[in-house]
Amino acid sequence: MPHLFCHEHPETLDLETCVVDWRPGRIALAQTPFYPGGGGQLADRGTLRWQGGEAAVTGFDYAEGQLWHLVDDAAEIRGTVVASVDPAFRRTMRRLHTGTHILNALVFAAFDGALVTGAQMYADGTARMDFDLPGADNDRLRALEAPINDIVRQDLRVNFLYVPLAEAERQHGLIRSRSVAPPPTPDGRVRIVEIAGLDRQACGGTHLASTGASPALRILKIDNKGRHNRRVRIGLDAAP
Ligand SMILES: [Zn+2]
Repeated sequence: MPHLFCHEHPETLDLETCVVDWRPGRIALAQTPFYPGGGGQLADRGTLRWQGGEAAVTGFDYAEGQLWHLVDDAAEIRGTVVASVDPAFRRTMRRLHTGTHILNALVFAAFDGALVTGAQMYADGTARMDFDLPGADNDRLRALEAPINDIVRQDLRVNFLYVPLAEAERQHGLIRSRSVAPPPTPDGRVRIVEIAGLDRQACGGTHLASTGASPALRILKIDNKGRHNRRVRIGLDAAP
């Protein structure tokens, strides 16, 4: 995964930039504020605006060595554009993504290093995480709701750093899931997201700057998926 602008600047949702390549319905930009999806986090939604026009961004595609913004307009677009991420959507993803890290950290600690087998966030403010938890007591999982919200109330800082892949692989627990961890950068490093004092894990998504920016989280449902897997569904409390 290349370095993404949104990793360094998660608060910058409107960016003036220029078109570097165009095909009907797809545009490559010099720089982009969009998160293109991956690791269980949905791709951002938003718009591109230019002199005399506007198009909705409907998806992303890595091809020909660059990131293409798929737009609902086949007109030729050149020159300067303003790329704008849908702020409510990004905020929901950042909250859910931070919430999944908190849940993941507490499951990892309470269930002897249990690993994630899958994760998916949804636009409706819910997310699911699958854990490799053979024989786990679902009541113990449900009981994690209170400690999750303790972490939210403690307003812990969320930081990121890069470590060499070999070092990340040596540290137990840093890479929780092959399906969720980001691919290394071109120079062989892995992005690590840290919730100060709680957890460090490889991740390429967008998160809150601190846990206190999240509304309360609820554990909505726990399902057994096969003999080994538990699927935990969480949701953000409705909050302004
Ligand atoms: Zn993450």
